[in-house]
Amino acid sequence: MSTTTPQRPRNRVRRSPKKARYERAFIDGVLDRALVAHVAFADGDGQPYCIPMLHARVGDRLYIHGSTASRLVRTLAAGAAACVTVTIVRGLVLARSAFEHSANFDSVVLLGRFGLIEDPDERLTALQAFTDRLVPGRWSEVRPPNRKELKATQILSMPIDEASGKTRSGPPDDEDSEDAAIDTWAGEVPVVTTFGEPVPAPGLRPGIPLAASVRRLAG
Ligand SMILES: Cc1cc2nc3c(=O)[nH]c(=O)nc-3n(C[C@H](O)[C@H](O)[C@H](O)COP(=O)(O)OP(=O)(O)OC[C@H]3O[C@@H](n4cnc5c(N)ncnc54)[C@H](O)[C@@H]3O)c2cc1C
Repeated sequence: MSTTTPQRPRNRVRRSPKKARYERAFIDGVLDRALVAHVAFADGDGQPYCIPMLHARVGDRLYIHGSTASRLVRTLAAGAAACVTVTIVRGLVLARSAFEHSANFDSVVLLGRFGLIEDPDERLTALQAFTDRLVPGRWSEVRPPNRKELKATQILSMPIDEASGKTRSGPPDDEDSEDAAIDTWAGEVPVVTTFGEPVPAPGLRPGIPLAASVRRLAG
């Protein structure tokens, strides 16, 4: 695996290039930590659509899945150009001026085309990755997909190649300006995402203990 993504004209960060990150370790880390990916593509009429989805990375590929009947799946499977974005907001950056307000974040933009995965083993590996990346170890606790469910699900993947990362950290950018003399609170408010207390399903039979994977998640 290459340690950085190739910087081509389409994925070279031009605005604030100091915030750019092309290392695969950064890009893979953001893809793995982000809960949601936004998948953009243009339909036949040129209208862009940007659809939020769950995703999973396995090695050098990004996987998404959806219903056989989904427009997104049909369009991407037919070879439409796609752009996938994932974002993790780590903090709000509050400056003395409205203009300098910002966010601390890690983000990734991935360009390319998805292909339909037909190989049964690769499909199962991807389905396991979708489950285990959200709740590590959950796959081994649940009923695996049956033939009908597998038939109703399409799995698509895109190589992690034409990708870029971007990151911002630290205080507002007005620290060294004349705005620093303004008597308004400035700083960073961290954004923390945590899991809350698990709520049992209404029909859960009494005596069924919390699954180990969920206990680990909450702990
Ligand atoms: C949570 C969040 C909030 C933001 N809010 C704003 C805002 O309000 N206004 C604003 O102008 N910008 C905002 N940005 C930055 C924004 O994502 C763009 O980076 C910026 O606007 C420049 O866009 P551009 O198309 O001119 O970039 P260019 O540098 O011209 O883009 C060239 C290439 O760089 C890559 N690239 C661009 N942006 C990103 C990115 N964020 N992550 C990874 N790769 C990227 C893509 O491959 C793109 O094709 C925000 C970013 C995040 C993560």
